Amino acid sequence: MKDNCQREITYLRLSVTDLCNLRCRYCMPAEGVAKKQHSEICSVKELVEMAAAAADCGVTKVRLTGGEPLVRRGIVDICRGVAALPGVREVDMTTNGILLPELARPLREAGLHRLNVSLDTLRPDRYAHMTRLGRLEDALAGLRAAVDAGFTGTKLNVVLMAGCNDDEIEDFVALTAEYPLEVRFIELMPMGQADAGVYLPGDTVLERCRSLVPAEPSGVARRWRLPGGKGLVGLIEPMSHRFCGSCDRIRITADGRLKPCLHSSQEIILRGLHGEELRQAIRDGIAAKPERHHMAEEGRSQTARNMNEIGG
Ligand code: SAM
Ligand code: SF4
Repeated sequence: MKDNCQREITYLRLSVTDLCNLRCRYCMPAEGVAKKQHSEICSVKELVEMAAAAADCGVTKVRLTGGEPLVRRGIVDICRGVAALPGVREVDMTTNGILLPELARPLREAGLHRLNVSLDTLRPDRYAHMTRLGRLEDALAGLRAAVDAGFTGTKLNVVLMAGCNDDEIEDFVALTAEYPLEVRFIELMPMGQADAGVYLPGDTVLERCRSLVPAEPSGVARRWRLPGGKGLVGLIEPMSHRFCGSCDRIRITADGRLKPCLHSSQEIILRGLHGEELRQAIRDGIAAKPERHHMAEEGRSQTARNMNEIGG
């Protein structure tokens, strides 16, 4: 269905938990988040029911996210349930990859199409520092497990941060010469734990890697490739190239609230609704989608949630 700005809304980002096995400094507080009561988080059945209602309203693609979706009990069942919904053509996941060695195969069998694996550095000491709890070797083992399980078209999400990982831009781009990966550099958004002072515009990648040549854009990503390279380089630039005009997505949080826009404080309670009431609430949310975010003017996102409570 179209929103009030004539944007066709076809993409749902479904957060399945706000918990995580890492503590990336820009995303989560060091102490983590208080574990919610079991009853505060949607059950597998509720999440699949909400995705089904969204599909009835025109959603064709669902991305499972979190927190870390792989720590959610029942993630394979959620994936299977969503992949089987009429109208859903694609189910993807954004993950830190740490638990993929156990879960890549069952997820693939459950109908997961593609993975985005978040990896902000290729240096073990940095990875440990940036994630507070993680080991680079575990994330890389996750990537290998994804390949072994038959996943193709995997993307690497790299949040660009001055003085933290911008000296690795060339190393990430070099990966695309050899591997059929899409490395996606993402501009840091000023929300939750993020330090707006380390923001870097996506154009930095183009300035540092002059040999990149333009490739087809995909969704909100502008894309390039190295001449003769097997992979692609994408830029996700919510700050410098505001792409709200082509936004096609809605979000549902793990506690069952519809967020028409990532950066707005507006939330619609879906829990407890069923059938036509649930579909109507989703249609109302789509209609209420704001025309654009206001981070440039306000300097900060208007959502009070940390990123792990929304899912990116
Ligand atoms: N735990 C999973 C992961 O890290 O991929 C999924 C959830 S995480 C919140 C989704 C994505 O949001 C990750 O790629 C992460 O790097 C990104 N992210 C988190 N905080 C961000 C921020 N302030 N600005 C831009 N991206 C952010
Ligand atoms: Fe966890 Fe992902 Fe946030 Fe890192 S970015 S703390 S892996 S939810």
